Amino acid sequence: MNFTDLNLIEPIIKAVQKIGYETPTPIQEKAIPTILKGQDFLGCAQTGTGKTAAFAIPILQNLMSRYSPNNKKIKALILTPTRELAIQIEENFKDYGSDLPLKSLVIFGGVKQGAQEASLRKGVDVLIATPGRLLDFINQRIISLKDLEIFVLDEADRMLDMGFVHDVKKVIKLIPQKRQTLFFSATMPKEISALANSILHNPVKVEV
Ligand code: AMP
Repeated sequence: MNFTDLNLIEPIIKAVQKIGYETPTPIQEKAIPTILKGQDFLGCAQTGTGKTAAFAIPILQNLMSRYSPNNKKIKALILTPTRELAIQIEENFKDYGSDLPLKSLVIFGGVKQGAQEASLRKGVDVLIATPGRLLDFINQRIISLKDLEIFVLDEADRMLDMGFVHDVKKVIKLIPQKRQTLFFSATMPKEISALANSILHNPVKVEV
């Protein structure tokens, strides 16, 4: 299979070609069509499988299909456990969306909030965040998630290992019930599959 077989819009195909990817990875072959259709997705996949592009590419395309330049509200949220992962994911969104008018931003703790806050105030379509800093901004009313359309929980098992599950559950309570949810975890311990079951709606499940 080729990226051109995935019904992707031209600016995304071009961006992928510019980066030099030749063919989609197995998780991308399965996740991209599912997510483009608006369905929920459960991916049991490690880092290195191409899972970031598997969600970033169809999210960008879904947001473009209903794009309006005057609506700079947060429409997609990617929650990930570490600053390093958050930064990498944002770089992926910037790469695949290099020819699109969508704005992505990464926020994480351990640094002063001023610069992140200033960027948030300019308007963001796709937010990549670690849980603690996200909740800080929500509590300060700097971030509202009421317009959220797509929610991604990345590396769910590491969220559990790092003690973030309580924060994750708090975030889930604050986002609209009507949404598309994408859930990724390298392993599926009981607590994680219970969490997946509680937040996904008829997901397509893929293990790679
Ligand atoms: P990830 O699993 O998302 O952390 O991606 C692992 C690495 O694979 C990253 O460096 C990506 O740039 C790269 N990658 C993702 N998709 C593809 C692809 N279809 N072909 C070649 N490399 C890819």
